[in-house]
Amino acid sequence: MLSGGQRQRVAIARAIITNPDFIVADEPVSMLDASIRVEILTILKEIQQRHKMAFMYITHDISTAKYFSDYILIMYAGQFAEYGPFRDVVKNPLHPYAQSLIEAIPDPDPSNRLRERKVAPGEPPNLANPPPGCRFHPRCPFAMDICKKQEPPVVEARPGVFVKCWLYVKKMINLKEIQTQSILTLT
Ligand code: SF4
Repeated sequence: MLSGGQRQRVAIARAIITNPDFIVADEPVSMLDASIRVEILTILKEIQQRHKMAFMYITHDISTAKYFSDYILIMYAGQFAEYGPFRDVVKNPLHPYAQSLIEAIPDPDPSNRLRERKVAPGEPPNLANPPPGCRFHPRCPFAMDICKKQEPPVVEARPGVFVKCWLYVKKMINLKEIQTQSILTLT
């Protein structure tokens, strides 16, 4: 007869008893009360630091991910959206879905209660029959024709930050065109 918090402690003890190098923690605190959540996250953080274990923390809650994460990978409908250093991505997200997700994080500051949030309309797609091209295109405010037909490649949009979005592929192509033109002009 264990409580939710006690069960999570048992699960953590079972996971670390063999002294692994790497732990996958899939939504470890999503079913717990807010007060227990902090306790469990603190235990995991201590384990991470004391035993030098690497964690893959899977969550829908970005505000808890900040406890652990040096890097973040944001996925949409089972596919890569954006990856990079945690603070960098959360402070300045590039992918339109990442921007919408970060806009949706609850803000406890009462002075911001009337601030309009730019959150993507609609629902995630049915994964049994996902939309063609970019899976986010039916909800994306920046969708272009190519987004509806062709899946975008992953590009390094800023040093260390990778994005799967045609916006950044187009920017890079334009940049390359400008650079080529300047080289042609100089020669
Ligand atoms: S590829 Fe197109 S639809 Fe997908 S996120 Fe980028 S701009 Fe939006």
